[in-house]
Amino acid sequence: MRMILAAAVFLVSTPALAVDLVGEFRQGGMILGAAEPGSEVSLDGNVLSVTPQGRFVFGFGRDHGPDATLAITHPDGTPQSVSLSIAPRDYDIQRIDGLPQGKVGGFSEATLKRIQADNAQVAAARANTDLSEYFLDGFIWPTKGRISGVYGSQRVLNGEPRRPHFGIDIAAPTGTPVVAPASGTVTLAESDHFFTGGIVILDHGHSVSSTLFHLHSVDVEVGQRVDKGQLIGTVGATGRATGPHLDWRMNWGSQRLDPQLVAGPMPE
Ligand SMILES: [Zn+2]
Repeated sequence: MRMILAAAVFLVSTPALAVDLVGEFRQGGMILGAAEPGSEVSLDGNVLSVTPQGRFVFGFGRDHGPDATLAITHPDGTPQSVSLSIAPRDYDIQRIDGLPQGKVGGFSEATLKRIQADNAQVAAARANTDLSEYFLDGFIWPTKGRISGVYGSQRVLNGEPRRPHFGIDIAAPTGTPVVAPASGTVTLAESDHFFTGGIVILDHGHSVSSTLFHLHSVDVEVGQRVDKGQLIGTVGATGRATGPHLDWRMNWGSQRLDPQLVAGPMPE
């Protein structure tokens, strides 16, 4: 008994098996990892890209299950498996019943085509990622104002769940500067998407991206490198918006992250 215990202690304290994981282990959270350079890392069977210094990133979407497994193969070939627990969250669900039928209207064929084209552009831009390491340097709020919408909220109209809200809405006057929340490369810059109006997508490397909606002006171009804090556009109410605000979304691949968990509380 004593010998088994000693062996177990020895194993976990071996320096070669050190793995650092920092972030919010909750739905919508982003985790930064560090392992020995040369390690191979996968999450639930999906291989992650690892920087030459052994850094990596992953995240959990809005409806991620309670468990995930991180598998690390250390440079000397030693395998390690780390079980992760992901805390569920309570989202703001608004149920509205008794709405007149047919109020939630259909779109014309032409509009549907346009929406599909917009969605395809967004998906392609988010998939357009490189091995830059900007995601390691932290995120700032792209603008400041009252938070008027939160990550994960959802409306259920006449019992029919609508698409959840994946961004954070920041209400601010039209023309308020919007800056890059982290350095990155512009992978989409459009002024007139149907739902989202002026839109910019920034790739921060390793599948981490920011999406900024409803921009009044779009002041960057696709392919441009921007620094954290650099002006990329201004707040507006373009697309389908009820008033001027910035909708900021974050993705790790197809997983939707909560910008509020990544950036922390909005500074004064
Ligand atoms: Zn929004």
